[in-house]
Amino acid sequence: MTQRQHHLYDVIVVGSGASGGWACKRLAEAGLKVALLEAGKPQSDENFTEHKPPFELKYRNKAPEILRKTRPIQSKFACDEYNADWFANDLEEPYTTPSDKPFDWMGRLRITGGRTNVWGRLCLRFSDWDFKAASRDGCGEDWPLSYKDLQPYYDLVERYVGISGSEETIEHLPDSFFQPPIPLTCQETLFRERVREKLGRVVTHARAANLTQPLNGRGPCHYCGPCERGCMTHSYFNSAFTTVADALASGNCMLISNAMVYKVLVDSAHNRANGVLYIDRVTRQPQELLSRLVILCAQAQESVRILLNSATREFPNGLANSSGVLGHYLTAHVRSAGGSGEFPSMGTKPSVEGGGPRKPTGVYIARFRNIPNSPPYKKFLRGYGYEGESSTNFDWKAPGFGIAYKKAVRVPRTTISITGFGEVLPRWENFVELDPGVKDIYGIPVLKIHMADGENERAMIQDMGDSAGEMLEAAGAKNICSYAHPSAPRWALHEAGIARMGSDPKNSVLNQFQQTHDIKNLFVMDAAGFPSNPCQNPTLTIMALCVRSCDFLMSEFKRNVF
Ligand SMILES: Cc1cc2nc3c(=O)[nH]c(=O)nc-3n(C[C@H](O)[C@H](O)[C@H](O)COP(=O)(O)OP(=O)(O)OC[C@H]3O[C@@H](n4cnc5c(N)ncnc54)[C@H](O)[C@@H]3O)c2cc1C
Ligand code: SF4
Repeated sequence: MTQRQHHLYDVIVVGSGASGGWACKRLAEAGLKVALLEAGKPQSDENFTEHKPPFELKYRNKAPEILRKTRPIQSKFACDEYNADWFANDLEEPYTTPSDKPFDWMGRLRITGGRTNVWGRLCLRFSDWDFKAASRDGCGEDWPLSYKDLQPYYDLVERYVGISGSEETIEHLPDSFFQPPIPLTCQETLFRERVREKLGRVVTHARAANLTQPLNGRGPCHYCGPCERGCMTHSYFNSAFTTVADALASGNCMLISNAMVYKVLVDSAHNRANGVLYIDRVTRQPQELLSRLVILCAQAQESVRILLNSATREFPNGLANSSGVLGHYLTAHVRSAGGSGEFPSMGTKPSVEGGGPRKPTGVYIARFRNIPNSPPYKKFLRGYGYEGESSTNFDWKAPGFGIAYKKAVRVPRTTISITGFGEVLPRWENFVELDPGVKDIYGIPVLKIHMADGENERAMIQDMGDSAGEMLEAAGAKNICSYAHPSAPRWALHEAGIARMGSDPKNSVLNQFQQTHDIKNLFVMDAAGFPSNPCQNPTLTIMALCVRSCDFLMSEFKRNVF
């Protein structure tokens, strides 16, 4: 039987990841009474295993087939024996796809902090080149805000998150407020210099949420390497030990863990959201919680799933969906092309795992197609950047045996590998809907995801592979291997755009403050609101937008609008 908790919160925030953490911090510190509902369990420093050697694990981190039994999708990326129980169980919480459009929905975290527990931490600003791209090339819709609207919030978020990197003064990739960069390896420096000299492209330090200086009680990174297992010195940004911790410390935020939100409760007579219905994941009992405002921050697909599951007589196709665009224009970066090549080791010595310092970041190659002050590129719209890293290993594949093999295997092999991240155009045909025939173990209808590459993505992927080879060659790499695979199964960790923002309520779900056009006390503050998904990684912009929207919400709250 459904239990109703009669306490009335000012705000319910659903999800404690990048966006939810900031929403709670900003609003709780401003004095609102916040309930944070998180589907996952609590996170704690005791769970962090970044210094634990594999031989202390039951399966030595060498038995992926065991993980695949419960997490066949999640175990494809960033999920291993160290952290598997932070991720959703794919069998208990499935989703579906059409048979000809497989999609790997990875990074479904079920723990405080969400994806920020395991993310790659690359933080890149968007610019007006992105926000106003549709006006320039005619594809999709402009964002209903400009860079100048977001710039103060980028500054605010960066000062708190702590982003290491270096200034490059690139118009379409604005500099952040940086801590000193994590130094490049000799090979990365060589690569950077030669690519600039020969091709005029910018290879910069990865701009990453890894501290190089102390910040708010968090220590600088000591280069142990595997941030996706947690960090006892809190040197990378994880909302579990930053924004959420601050919100709880304010005394105004209550974290309710294991709370799987099913739907938003609606007072149809007054066209208001008045709380949420959630399933307690431990007891499996439904619970209702009431509030004056509801903010969904559950990650783009999860938030839209909640809205679709909240349909009412007035909104039969999903709550706040008078426009009909809810669920459509799903975008997620293509990243199935890149390359690698070998460089002189320059005195770098190989070491077995954990045997030496392992810096957690590498390089970023700024977009060079369709950029300001150059003619439009003929093969495709928009652009891509690359993430890259170098490593020095033993020559495990050396031929021979005996003493000769022992000698040969010690010869260091230094490799740089780069992976492209390309913008996917927002298209109506890429969408999510509820699958009427499938529910998760909590009885909640699941999503069916329809996603496939179009012509533009295919042309971009090919170019990403070709350009990777070109740059490695320009840098003098040997044994170059470049690739450009079709992205099937389609996958990405940067999904966006299925409840898009816009000025016109007829073709958008949210306004520029991520408030639904249809229901004034309902907000969606994750990447679901992105009208497009530029090639830069999204999370810095998710956080900056969220804080801006919270400030708007606060000002409306003070005017008693809600
Ligand atoms: C391996 C990996 C690498 C990445 N690397 C980068 C990178 O380098 N740079 C970058 O910008 N981005 C990166 N990302 C993406 C980044 O992590 C996300 O963009 C960001 O965390 C999204 O924030 P969010 O608040 O929307 O969702 P999340 O951070 O995922 O948080 C959502 C939270 O909501 C909870 N939740 C979901 N459904 C419900 C429900 N029904 N009820 C209650 N709670 C719910 C989840 O349990 C989760 O804790 C990476 C992601 C992954 C997985
Ligand atoms: S590499 Fe740095 S940020 Fe990552 S876990 Fe180690 S100390 Fe923490």
